[in-house]
Amino acid sequence: MFIDDTISAIATAPGEGGIGIIRISGSKAVDIAKAIFKPFYKNGIDEYNARTLIYGNIVDGEEIVDEVLLAYMKGPNSYTAEDVIEINCHGGFISVKKILELTLKNGARLADRGEFTKRAFLNGRIDLSQAEAIIDIINAKTDKSHEIAQSQLEGSLSDKIKKLRHRITEVLAQVEVAIDYPEEDIEFITYKELTEKTESIRDEIRFLYNTSDTGKIFREGLKTAILGKPNVGKSSLMNAILGENRAIVTDIPGTTRDVIEEFVNINGIPLKIVDTAGIRETEDIVEKIGVEKSISHLKSSDLNLLVIDISRELEADDLDILKNIDPNKTIVLLNKIDLESKIDLKEIEKYVDNENIISISALKHEGLNSIHQKIEKMVFSGEVQSSSDVVITNSRHKDAIYKAMNSIEDAVNGLKDTLPYDFIEVDLKDAWDSLGYINGDTVSEDLLDTIFSNFCIGK
Ligand code: GDP
Repeated sequence: MFIDDTISAIATAPGEGGIGIIRISGSKAVDIAKAIFKPFYKNGIDEYNARTLIYGNIVDGEEIVDEVLLAYMKGPNSYTAEDVIEINCHGGFISVKKILELTLKNGARLADRGEFTKRAFLNGRIDLSQAEAIIDIINAKTDKSHEIAQSQLEGSLSDKIKKLRHRITEVLAQVEVAIDYPEEDIEFITYKELTEKTESIRDEIRFLYNTSDTGKIFREGLKTAILGKPNVGKSSLMNAILGENRAIVTDIPGTTRDVIEEFVNINGIPLKIVDTAGIRETEDIVEKIGVEKSISHLKSSDLNLLVIDISRELEADDLDILKNIDPNKTIVLLNKIDLESKIDLKEIEKYVDNENIISISALKHEGLNSIHQKIEKMVFSGEVQSSSDVVITNSRHKDAIYKAMNSIEDAVNGLKDTLPYDFIEVDLKDAWDSLGYINGDTVSEDLLDTIFSNFCIGK
């Protein structure tokens, strides 16, 4: 694809700050810079070495707009692989806006969301999975999520996919030879050998697929609900967890009063605690979370922390929630261990394994570490152990791998049943295509638009 227009955008977040950056990319980037920038010490940016910061003024005719530092990164050694100019001006709203307008007046077009990164992809500097890793880096909620995204940007997933596709190509080549030269006497051996090779590819694809559940957690957070009848200590627990681990708070637009998502970092695992109004605003009787609300939440969450107050006997409300939990994704927290216990543990063990019951005091911050360890154990009980493993974090990649896994399984079964090679060839090609979806070798323009529309402007 040939891209001939030059794009420009503000690359820094809106608001007051020390520095604002305007980024220009394309064949006219340098001409635009020459038209609006006057360096202090030499005549033009041509007189400076590439990739040095040049001190000067942005001017609109005679008027000085701002004092800036300008960087010129000559393509293809730049973010987009095109000529890129970055102007570091004073932060705030006005300077950046004025300079952006000047670039547009001088021939640039306002960039779409993610268009700089899209160009890096279209110009072949990075593949699609690397481009997506850039969004994940920007959105990362914990160090661990960031680490996985960074490794994907470095090409860990791309390499894996390339190798798998290469191995499929090798099998395909043998299958094609067998189609072209169908000699009876080599057939048996060929089927056996091809089955083994294809099975080994299938196992690797399957392994990759199995990392996706954990991967999704690192990318999107483990959706966690704190449940229990009123006054058991939910908000105390929430505050205890948040106090130590708060990462990021996001308001969901339109529902500000109802739901706040709090991200907390539990041993590197981002927990997205869905805090309904009432958990924290305990004095607000009307919105106090009740048993019904608890039950509706526990269905939609990945992890439930069910709080039970041991200083009171178990009541119908506790049992109603207990009866509805999924024991595999619930940790029962026996709260208020600083007080005398009035509950019968055996009653609770009817609904949840003893391993998933932890005694705590939310008030005294006791037992919190056991909760962290338990959560970590639950998350890492899957395939993913070390950070160097390639982890599938993106649902688009997961779908593609799932398709590839099914096609390769069909190929294995076909080989075992000594089906005609033409059938095997179709399955292998499908698997190859599906994997190509991940690094962008086989994607449509529409899909690209969808992916890059998730980026911010200026990235
Ligand atoms: P919620 O309605 O479930 O959110 O419960 P709260 O967190 O508002 O707690 C209800 C009451 O129990 C408050 O007075 C808390 O101070 C108290 N509480 C919470 N956790 C503990 C605990 O571990 N020990 C004791 N003794 N009191 C607690």
